[in-house]
Amino acid sequence: MKRIFKSLRSRLIVLLLAAMLPLLLILGYQSLHAYRHAIDDVHLETQSLVQKISMEQARHISAAHYLLLTLAANPQIAERRPGFCSIFRDILAQRIIFANVGMTDLEGNTVCSGARKTRDASFSNRLWFQLLRQGFDQAVVGDYHLGVQVDEPVVIVAMPLTGSRGEHRAYLFVSVDLSWFDRTRLGDALPEGSEVIFHDQNGLILHADPAPEAWRGKPFAAAVRPVGAAGFGRGVVKAYGRDGRLRLFASARLESGATNENVFVAVGVPADLALAQVHRIALFMGMIAAAVFAGILLFAWFASDRLVVVPVRRMVRQANAHAAGDLTYRSGVAEGTELSQLARALDAMAMQMARRDRELAQHLRAFDAHAIVSATDTAGRIVYANDKFCEISQYSREEILGKTHRLINSGFHPPEFFAGMLDTISRGRVWQGNIRNRRKDGSFYWVASTIVPFFDENGCLERYFAIRTDITHALAIDAALEESEERFRLLATNALEVISLNEPDGRFVYISPSVERVLGHVPAALIGLDAFTLVHPDDAGRTRGTLFVPALRGEPGHCDYVRLRHVEGIYIWAELSAVPVRDTTGYVRNVQVTMRDVTARKRIEDKLRLHDRALAASGTGMAIFRSGDGAIEYTNAAYAEIVDLPQAAIPGECWPLLVESKNDTKGWHLLYDALAHGAERHAVVEALTRRGRQLWCDIFISPVRSDSGEVTHYVAALTDVSDQVALEAALTRAKEAAEQASLAKTRFLSHVSHELRTPLNAIVGFAQLLESDPDAPLNDIQQDSIQRILGAGWLLRELIDDVLDLSRIETGRLELKPQEVNVVGLIRECLEHVAPQAEARGLELVDLSAECGRQTLHVDAKRFRQVLLNLLTNAVKYNRPGGRVTVTCHRLEQGMLRIAVSDTGIGIPQAKRNELFQYFSRLGAEHTSVPGIGVGLALCRHLVDLMGGSISVESVEGEGSSFAIELPAPCHATETI
Ligand code: ADP
Repeated sequence: MKRIFKSLRSRLIVLLLAAMLPLLLILGYQSLHAYRHAIDDVHLETQSLVQKISMEQARHISAAHYLLLTLAANPQIAERRPGFCSIFRDILAQRIIFANVGMTDLEGNTVCSGARKTRDASFSNRLWFQLLRQGFDQAVVGDYHLGVQVDEPVVIVAMPLTGSRGEHRAYLFVSVDLSWFDRTRLGDALPEGSEVIFHDQNGLILHADPAPEAWRGKPFAAAVRPVGAAGFGRGVVKAYGRDGRLRLFASARLESGATNENVFVAVGVPADLALAQVHRIALFMGMIAAAVFAGILLFAWFASDRLVVVPVRRMVRQANAHAAGDLTYRSGVAEGTELSQLARALDAMAMQMARRDRELAQHLRAFDAHAIVSATDTAGRIVYANDKFCEISQYSREEILGKTHRLINSGFHPPEFFAGMLDTISRGRVWQGNIRNRRKDGSFYWVASTIVPFFDENGCLERYFAIRTDITHALAIDAALEESEERFRLLATNALEVISLNEPDGRFVYISPSVERVLGHVPAALIGLDAFTLVHPDDAGRTRGTLFVPALRGEPGHCDYVRLRHVEGIYIWAELSAVPVRDTTGYVRNVQVTMRDVTARKRIEDKLRLHDRALAASGTGMAIFRSGDGAIEYTNAAYAEIVDLPQAAIPGECWPLLVESKNDTKGWHLLYDALAHGAERHAVVEALTRRGRQLWCDIFISPVRSDSGEVTHYVAALTDVSDQVALEAALTRAKEAAEQASLAKTRFLSHVSHELRTPLNAIVGFAQLLESDPDAPLNDIQQDSIQRILGAGWLLRELIDDVLDLSRIETGRLELKPQEVNVVGLIRECLEHVAPQAEARGLELVDLSAECGRQTLHVDAKRFRQVLLNLLTNAVKYNRPGGRVTVTCHRLEQGMLRIAVSDTGIGIPQAKRNELFQYFSRLGAEHTSVPGIGVGLALCRHLVDLMGGSISVESVEGEGSSFAIELPAPCHATETI
């Protein structure tokens, strides 16, 4: 089916048939219109029939009205005279439109009836009766129903018979018959086979035509059975009638003036009759459509064959011939149709293709003559190779075809190189690169290759074309050029100088990369920039004048020490030189400037200049002389002054320009020895100037070495120290005299002390004898005197001991005998010793040394006790009455033990602190009554020094002092049990 619709002919036919669609739509619309018309007819006929019935029925009800009035006015009836019932019977016999005429009592029971009574019935539940009972005095019309007495569909018109006071006495009624209707009177307009059904709102058939008796009282739904749910509009439905025939039913309410219009009339017209016209029209339209369809089909079939199919076939043949390579074949399609335009276009295309073929062949020939071309199938086999390929590879075509490119692989490129190439082209991309190949004779050649992959119509790789150019020679030239360029670039980059080419106005045309190293500027950023913007404003004029002006005149220019701005804003010192650059006509086109960074040189020169000035200004005489002959090359003014010679006359003279003193040959020997060995020497020597002035010189000579380490010169620094030498000699003499005196004093003290000790021992000894002689007890006065002698004697002995210790220390004869000493025990012992003195002065002794517990020290116990006692005695002596003496002991982190003796005494003024610990220095205590000779603290310091410790003091005048000794307390000794 799909194939049929692909054919041009069938599509044309379908197109033509599609053009028929509007016609079919029109025909369909016409049929529908006719159908609607038929439906409208049924509706209108029904409406008109029901209208006629309604009018007729209204007329009958009016007649019933009139009859009731007549009957009510009849005295025979009003007074119910005997035989009045016959009046009703007579009336009924004359008027066939009434089913009954009669009278009821006030309860609705029939008193008299014109129709023969078929059954007893009461009207009490009838609408008309209820209306009258409600007090209506006029005639009322009831509703349509099947008569209660007569088995007819009726509507009852009734009125009351009233008495003289207007009271109801009885009711007159007339039953208007609905079954008067038959088709002979009103329904004759209906088509044959139509049926009319009267039914009330409850769907109960009141009357039907034809066959009313059979259907009276039956449900309307059983008589009319609709086909389908929907109607045709305007209330017309298709339904089966009572006889089972298909009809179009329309329905309308009967409007006759009854109180309750509860009657509907349904008219059913046989469907075949009602729609006969419609069917005829539809048949006619269908025949027209079929005829047109057949005509178009035939026309399309034959016309398309002649006008389309045959020319198309010819053109297809032409296209096939072109595809087969025959570009001369022509379709011969006749002129005048659109297809002939296509044929002409096909011919033009063939001619164009033929021209292209020619051009392509020319291109290919040219291409083959220029490039090395080969084609490879997907398996990598060479399927085409041009002459150039054979020529450069030295293989014949037969040798090449069917082989892979491995045939010419030089083995130069790694496998990854070819893998990358294959990856690129297998992705459909063009690969380009240089390949080194091998000829048949084993020599190599380089080709610039472009490999293009081609795909078939399914997108599968079909073949690769490789186009190559021999670049062996070009590569060699490139390599040489590159090497030369690299050499130049390296030279320009690494050169210390910066080379630039400038326009005559100073703008940079070229600047070597070394500028970045020297000035920090990127070369590209300077191109086009005025070179003078880099020059310090103070140097710009000088630079232009000595560099550019001569260069532009055609001469070389030079400018020393020019400040150039570095990219960081600082200036560097540069030396610039310029040469002209001429064009072929000899005209100076540019200026080539060479710039050298001389900042370091300038700095050194500046420093040298400074040194030179400093040397010249120095008060020390400086001389520089040659190593070999001692010829002086430089002296400063101070040197000339010392040697009593004019400075200008000195260069060339032989060093030292002084006459050696005969008394001091040793010093001069030392100096000459230095010169002989190239060493550094210092000596203070005695000399004479050439003018005979005697002087002492402090001479320091040191060698100056060359880069190779050879001593080329010596520098001599000479100071006239005659005054110092004289002073030192005087001092030495004074010192020696003092030392002699001190030694004599020490000896004297030692001697005196020893001499004093003997009689003192005798005094004390005999005083003790006196004190303790049981044979001659002393009285109190004598006892007191002996105690005073003993006290003074002990004190004197202590003083003499101190002086003796002092002389021992000074003469280095004091020896310590270290032993383990319990610190806390010794402190307690010393405290007990000074306790009487403290008590006498009302002082409190506080021992806070418990922290040191079992701490021991490896010291001379006697000397350690002597130190502690001295400090405690001082703390008591120089305390205020009622004061406090505190002893503390701490272990310090550095393996030391600190014992401090603090008092609340007079303190030591800051100004006198440096006099402490000096022999016989009492800081003013000598003017007080406090006993002492000022040796104790000096001894303490010496003893603590000998024990390897130190002593220090802290004091606030008027508040108290704290003397602390720190002694080494090695860890292993701390916990001795
Ligand atoms: P002295 O025999 O005079 O006590 P020292 O050598 O023991 O000799 O002391 C030197 C001087 O240092 C003392 O004369 C005294 O003026 C001062 N001095 C020593 N210890 C104390 C102290 N605890 N408080 C105040 N001054 C002191």
